[in-house]
Amino acid sequence: MKSIIIAIDGYSSCGKSTTARLVAQRLQYLFIDSGAMYRAVTWYFLEKGIDSQNVTEIEAHLPSINIEFRQLPDATMPAVFLNDQLIESEIRAPRIAAVVSEYSAIPCIRKAMVKQQQIMGEFGGVVMDGRDIGTVVFPQAELKLFLTADIDIRVKRRSIELEHKGYNQSPEEIKRNLLHRDYVDTHRSEGPLLKASDAIEIDTTFHTVESQVELVISMFEKIISYPAKINS
Ligand code: C5P
Repeated sequence: MKSIIIAIDGYSSCGKSTTARLVAQRLQYLFIDSGAMYRAVTWYFLEKGIDSQNVTEIEAHLPSINIEFRQLPDATMPAVFLNDQLIESEIRAPRIAAVVSEYSAIPCIRKAMVKQQQIMGEFGGVVMDGRDIGTVVFPQAELKLFLTADIDIRVKRRSIELEHKGYNQSPEEIKRNLLHRDYVDTHRSEGPLLKASDAIEIDTTFHTVESQVELVISMFEKIISYPAKINS
């Protein structure tokens, strides 16, 4: 069967990664959470004490940052390693979410991440989620989705996720962070969060995860059967 690229973009906490991971599992495709890569880079610079304003220093460090996804036994999703160090749980912390958009807006960081993402997906058979996958990383992707959801639902979902991970943030703090990230991600000059003109929008507010996955799988099947028709 032909291996295609599925690009899933959208705002923070709209269910992109969950959908992408489950779709990839169903299709036996590679799942790449591109947000995890920006979180990993952010973790690195926070550990080194390098501020997001210090672009010269950031640029000098970028060649020595190697990010990989490795499947650990019994884990539901691949874990993030930076220079061979497992940092999967560290990158999900609120202190990373607080500043990740500032680091992600820096053009040299985006250039380095986009290059790695393009290499990871060069043979197709990949589901990648993020903010610029359908517009910059894989403008040629055969299936592009753009996920949205009501802000209060997004806050609820993020709140449950953070609780599971042992963090206790108020709904107000979570809402502030989601809206802040949406704003910075949408307004940056390089690779802004943008719906590709040929992306299909899915409002996940009233969808269950299962129904989202089914919807994407049905779109995938349509593309595989009638490659030219899905976006017309
Ligand atoms: O997807 P997630 O919420 O983990 O992404 C964290 C942050 O990484 C986003 O708020 C955004 O600033 C950045 N990001 C990005 N481009 C992507 C994926 C994520 O700028 N393709």
